[in-house]
Amino acid sequence: MECKKTKNMDICNCTYSCAKKGVCCDCLHYHRNMGQMPACFFPEDIESGYDRSISNFVKVWQERKHL
Ligand code: SF4
Repeated sequence: MECKKTKNMDICNCTYSCAKKGVCCDCLHYHRNMGQMPACFFPEDIESGYDRSISNFVKVWQERKHL
């Protein structure tokens, strides 16, 4: 299976300078191991604050009525 990094870059909303950008498998494992969620789980205005904690994810989506 070919790596889809180039295609993934089109839909990645992460604004942090990171070598894992577009490599979703590495990105997901990294953040999961940190007890976090990847950038694409957050709205863009929240993503840019770089708080990728699960508690921030729940807080944001509860406030925005999606949970
Ligand atoms: S979400 Fe995290 S691991 Fe993924 S590209 Fe952004 S900073 Fe890197």
